[in-house]
Amino acid sequence: MKNHNRATSNDGVKRVVDASLESDRLVLFRVVLVALVFALTARAAFAAPPKPRPRGDVSVGAGGVETPASENGAERSRAVRERTNGSSPELVALARDAQNWFDPKTAPKLREFVLDAAKERRKRWEKYPDVDLERAADREIRRVASGRITLYTDLPSSTEVDQIPDALDAAVPILCKIFHADPAPFENWKVEAFLMRDVDAFVEIRALEGSPRFLYGYSDRNRIFAKDQGLGYYNRFLLMHELVHTFMHEYFGDLNPRWYSEGAAEYLALHQWSPKKGLELAQFPVSEKAYPGFGRLRQIRQILATRRAPSILDIMSFQPRDYEQVSSYAWSWAFVSFLSRSPKYRDVAEVLPYWMVANDPNALFVDAIGDRWGELEYDWADFLEQLDYEYDFEATAINSDPLLPSAPTEEELRKGVVVSIDPTRGWLDSGVRTTAGSKYKLTIAGRFKFYLEDAKKTFDFEGTGATIEYFGGRPAGRVRAVVAPDPTGETFADVYQTASDDNSRDLGADFRFDAFRRSRHTRFGDESLGNASGFSDETLAELKSAEQTNDREPEASRFDFYNALYPWNGGVDFAKSSVVLEPERSGILYFRVNAAPKNLKRNGGRVKVQIKLLD
Ligand SMILES: [Zn+2]
Repeated sequence: MKNHNRATSNDGVKRVVDASLESDRLVLFRVVLVALVFALTARAAFAAPPKPRPRGDVSVGAGGVETPASENGAERSRAVRERTNGSSPELVALARDAQNWFDPKTAPKLREFVLDAAKERRKRWEKYPDVDLERAADREIRRVASGRITLYTDLPSSTEVDQIPDALDAAVPILCKIFHADPAPFENWKVEAFLMRDVDAFVEIRALEGSPRFLYGYSDRNRIFAKDQGLGYYNRFLLMHELVHTFMHEYFGDLNPRWYSEGAAEYLALHQWSPKKGLELAQFPVSEKAYPGFGRLRQIRQILATRRAPSILDIMSFQPRDYEQVSSYAWSWAFVSFLSRSPKYRDVAEVLPYWMVANDPNALFVDAIGDRWGELEYDWADFLEQLDYEYDFEATAINSDPLLPSAPTEEELRKGVVVSIDPTRGWLDSGVRTTAGSKYKLTIAGRFKFYLEDAKKTFDFEGTGATIEYFGGRPAGRVRAVVAPDPTGETFADVYQTASDDNSRDLGADFRFDAFRRSRHTRFGDESLGNASGFSDETLAELKSAEQTNDREPEASRFDFYNALYPWNGGVDFAKSSVVLEPERSGILYFRVNAAPKNLKRNGGRVKVQIKLLD
């Protein structure tokens, strides 16, 4: 019972965050829209809530979907006051503005502030009861130790299983490096790992408190658990995922928001291990074979093929119950991988773990992206469209500086302007703005070097492409052009049409993220622009009703329809060296050479495109 109290009070922070997403949000949101909420005094505020919730992957049954004990507004604001007492009000105020987290003067102070708070919380963790070693021997549970890790398992001895502690132990200094954490405190860190076939036996030896309520794995304090998945790599991956949770929980504090904590655990845990070469974490898949059991990339492609996907807002709103579906892990993995690896967003991704203890880390994230939100949506949609093994995040990053530094005048366009396309890059903003209804003649000229995967060498290409090799259903090496609405300056509120406000930093007192508010108005499926899903209206209606019947909540569609391929799947291809473009919407003209992202860097030279406005 004592331990249950610990677990629940530890969970108090999460509980407050959940509660603030319930109704009656105004009090809390006005006072601390994005105030950092620490657990320092949370325990006093939440006496004995009903049930313990395991940390990490509380993903099954009633455990995952339980609603937090209701708390009235007065109690909650008292809790907030108590928790922000004792921390410097000046720092709390600074922490509310995401920009301060990127300011070289304030950022170190804020980081220290969070890490100190996490350390304080860490001191209050109660120790698990010792594993009953005698009984473990009776139940044929083996103990394999290496460095910081002690593994208990009822799986028979094999190289794969018995090397798990080595691999997990090797992960700790790498995680310290990734998070710029001082490795000294982690030198004597101890983690007990449980890889379980017969879960009841592990309850008997006091590994788990009570019956486990999780599907695959979970972490709590310094213990990590995984149910045997029958695949050597995947077992190690699951324990690695839980180890990342435990590490982050230890170092940064609580595990919020869900998309980030799960996405980071997935992203960092994808690894390569060999006793000789050691461990590499945070892999982006080079092939499916290299990570047996990890099918996230394939799953996303399959979902995209149905032209349905959660919007970024949907991902940001994932709740614990959403993780009953493996696809939620896949989306979280993809989004965190994208943010962490994209040269445009990795600075934001680097700060995200520090916001795990914020009352609303999503609001800080929105604030950090600011008026780049429209651009983020474009970059994310492009990433999804081209998602492939060995994805080259550098090469595909859409240029922030247009090819033409200033937009040409109408007169200049009538004469014709020329842009130079780098075939080693993804979509490039030409700097030319086109007008709906006008006609443009686009002409390509020049030869460039293009790499053909089958031949494994480069050839001289003219921009019309090869019909012997395809990528994304289009000839490889062919120049493509697309017109997309200008995303410049668009904020989260513009894209999702949330509470209108002039200041992107202030989302408004009544603004909140809500898992049950499915995005009706995304850039990619804006109902006001008609059906942008790519399906006919009839098919769309059928799919929607089918989806609702399968959903546990028939009134709410699980994910809204989202044409993730828009705008990058439209436009014109240069089947000939000269084409006429008649854009349906005004916007920016983008170009690229069609190629698998991993092969872009193997191309060379330039292809020139003349853009001419016709009468
Ligand atoms: Zn997890």
